[in-house]
Amino acid sequence: MSIKSEALRYLGHSGQSIPEDQMQLVDAVIEETIAVAEPKTVHRIFSIERRDDSIYIPAEIDLNTKDIKHLLAQSRDVMLIGATLGLSIDRKLRYYSKTDATRMIIMDAVASALIEDVCDTLQASLPFEHYTFRFSPGYGDVPLTMQKDLLRVLEAGKRIGLSLTSSLLMVPQKSITGIVGIGEKDMQLKRSCDGCKLMDHCEYRKKGTVCYKITS
Ligand code: SF4
Repeated sequence: MSIKSEALRYLGHSGQSIPEDQMQLVDAVIEETIAVAEPKTVHRIFSIERRDDSIYIPAEIDLNTKDIKHLLAQSRDVMLIGATLGLSIDRKLRYYSKTDATRMIIMDAVASALIEDVCDTLQASLPFEHYTFRFSPGYGDVPLTMQKDLLRVLEAGKRIGLSLTSSLLMVPQKSITGIVGIGEKDMQLKRSCDGCKLMDHCEYRKKGTVCYKITS
């Protein structure tokens, strides 16, 4: 799926026609966002060991929540991933928040689509065929505090300049951390909003969309 179609979906667009001038603005913002972004990724892959209904990897992180165990039930390995678009996008978003709110909203959606695309591109470059969806802290029963463990295990501060504030906001802001299962065959897992803690206040759902790619 293209960055443009994903960005339009994040903006709540569901196929209705878009005036030419607005489409040109979206195209211009996509071009600008790609030019300004400084994407960086870091990842580590671990073999999964299973004992007594628990999973273990050789790293200091506990992946034993119900939802992560479900995610990794058919996986051989797990990949921990961190990605960021860098501080330059944050600065540009702050600038447009004061000068051009429309452009800021579009750039925010484009940046969200771009960071997912950066992770997709990384995964596609690795010699694996079968992945689960990317599971991020804050989703399901995985607390946001797990971001700390992910960043520590990935040495994300040192390697890509990605850190957390004391209130668990990522710096740079347009960044993600994730957990992805790697298997030997299609694991037939689909992401949904079931169990998401953000369900009651979700901005994506208010716009009639979701924060993840919809696969058929
Ligand atoms: S769309 Fe909203 S409710 Fe659904 S998983 Fe994403 S954040 Fe949670």
